[in-house]
Amino acid sequence: MKIQRCSHISSAALPLRTNSRFVLAGSPRLAACPQATAPSGARTFHRSAQARQSVYRRFGENRYYTLNERRIAFLYSRDVLKWAAYIGGFVGIIAVANLDRAPVTQRLRVILAPSWLDMYLARSAERSTIKSYRNYILPDGHPTVRKVKEIVKRLTKNPPRDLWPDHMRNIDWKVTVINSKDPPNAFVLANGHVFVFTSILPIARNDAGLATVLSHEISHVVARHIAEKTSRVPVSLFISLLAISAGIPNSITNLQNLLFELPSSRAQEAEADAIGLMLMSSACYNPADAPQFWSRMEQAMRQYGLAGSPRFDFLQTHPSDEKRRKALIDLQSQALDRYHMAGCDQYGSFVSSMF
Ligand SMILES: [Zn+2]
Repeated sequence: MKIQRCSHISSAALPLRTNSRFVLAGSPRLAACPQATAPSGARTFHRSAQARQSVYRRFGENRYYTLNERRIAFLYSRDVLKWAAYIGGFVGIIAVANLDRAPVTQRLRVILAPSWLDMYLARSAERSTIKSYRNYILPDGHPTVRKVKEIVKRLTKNPPRDLWPDHMRNIDWKVTVINSKDPPNAFVLANGHVFVFTSILPIARNDAGLATVLSHEISHVVARHIAEKTSRVPVSLFISLLAISAGIPNSITNLQNLLFELPSSRAQEAEADAIGLMLMSSACYNPADAPQFWSRMEQAMRQYGLAGSPRFDFLQTHPSDEKRRKALIDLQSQALDRYHMAGCDQYGSFVSSMF
């Protein structure tokens, strides 16, 4: 967007009260320079019937302005900087007051969302999932349900204190296994409801594989990743409103997604991998099974056409297979320390019973 200096008139002559003497080429403000003509190639302001309908008059002035003129004038005045500074300062203070470190990675993030909102969202997701799959839920006595319950119990029974923040203490764990040919999936809600789709079992292959995916999903709850996402909603709304006011909603929304949402989602996934690895090792599952499981999962997602192209990793939500495996391999010695500290050498050999 071109900026043209309206130099032939004084600021006092400008129709809108503003300290700025810059106007947009091709914008309605060009019409505000009495002797100005549009530069070649620039659009001149056209007063459409719609624009005439949305006119208003400023208090104490005789001139009528369109809504567009008012919006553009506001965006290019010092008022907008002043308000942006006020709001930015306010948001900054709130953000600093609510800084929180994630377990294991010690990543700093802002969590504003209260715990009751986590529970409300969890109950809502729980109801809709059960409603959608009510005819495919395996009975409690089914061997697969018993197996998943056994693994969840082992992962959540006595985890190290640094992996188990206060909000995890009184969770009442519940397991639902859905007999479905849908793409492999498993997730854990903030209220402790674990959902597993049977399509993930062939990829898990054994207890350690299933423990890998379950500990990863439990780790999203440990790190309150949903609360972190919902905490960004007011900021996203503010940026979107600002973009809509400026008439550029799509580009700003896409940029916002690229700059904030995708990197954050990738950081959360890598973090859930790291916390999950420590959690499963502390529960005496072989940490070496984790990178292998994620490789099988990546291949399966490719078969379902759900994995993004590795060439465009920057645009993907999940870390690429290679990065994920490397990060998990780098954490192996730390995970083995946890395994030994938990006394797993006495516990017995790694469990790897086949489904
Ligand atoms: Zn995840």
